[in-house]
Amino acid sequence: MPDQRFDRIHEFIAPLRVKPGTKVRLPRDYDPRYSADLVKKDQATDLLAQGIEWLSEFQMRLAAQDTWSLLVIFQAMDAAGKDGTIRHVMSGVNPQGVEVTSFKVPSELERDHDYLWRAALRLPARGMIGIFNRSYYEETLVVRVHPSILASQKLPKRSKGRDVWQRRFREINDWERYLTDNGTKIVKLFLNVSKEEQKGRFLDRIDEPESNWKFSASDARERQYWDDYQKAFADMLSNTSTPWAPWHVIPADRKWFMRLAAAAVILDALMEIDPKFPVPTPEARADMLKAKEELLAEDGGPAPDAGS
Ligand code: ATP
Ligand code: MG
Repeated sequence: MPDQRFDRIHEFIAPLRVKPGTKVRLPRDYDPRYSADLVKKDQATDLLAQGIEWLSEFQMRLAAQDTWSLLVIFQAMDAAGKDGTIRHVMSGVNPQGVEVTSFKVPSELERDHDYLWRAALRLPARGMIGIFNRSYYEETLVVRVHPSILASQKLPKRSKGRDVWQRRFREINDWERYLTDNGTKIVKLFLNVSKEEQKGRFLDRIDEPESNWKFSASDARERQYWDDYQKAFADMLSNTSTPWAPWHVIPADRKWFMRLAAAAVILDALMEIDPKFPVPTPEARADMLKAKEELLAEDGGPAPDAGS
């Protein structure tokens, strides 16, 4: 795969990356309708198809190399398009190489542990791609917007003090640094949908019988906290975009651009890992050739056509 194309991907996603140390304001700093220099869905279709093909090739090499794992984290407001993006972007990848985890309201067992515990259980093994549909970042989002959730967490009193959010940011940064240092590459995607677009998607879900199952009245009621969520997201982006695990803000109002941009960021991370097929040692290669001779000599017959 020629490197020039990879340079283009790197440039394409640069405006989406949250520079570590910058203070983000939403919606001021990131336009949910941004689409680079693409104006129509058709322009993105071929690019996405190409991206999906490359993702599949990279996944194969990642598995073969068996050294790095890739963790992709999705965070967003409801109806921003997490599920659809995961479905489209990963559609060409070998299902054996990917594990998707959707994090819900913590169970009793999960509440009996520290908040990173359930995420640690679902981390991808070397060679694997792990996708977190929501994540431990909820601990700085929904838990921050609704103080009653923090109040009900089974924490020591002093762990619920005013410094709790800064402390969580630090803990998360430290943990992600540790994971990165030990072979887990982390990609963090915030799908940035506008309030108006979310309303339109909720209305579509109500009006289209086949989408009714996706609608939840409580999601719609959560809109009254929109501004609080925007603030919590902005603070999360400002405090946890690090050199080792930067956030990317993916414009989500145009689904076709969101999918293309998400694929590009994931590809860029895989390009950075640049996994290679392992080369056998001379001894292993000699063994292989010996095995080949034995296979060909079986029954003295001719070699069958290799299956595909
Ligand atoms: P869908 O798009 O299918 O509705 P979803 O991700 O919204 O998917 P739900 O079961 O509807 O899935 O919602 C999960 C809920 O769990 C969200 O409201 C989220 O805020 C909440 N949640 C996730 N993690 C935590 C957490 N650590 N503490 C409290 N609530 C959490
Ligand atoms: Mg939901």
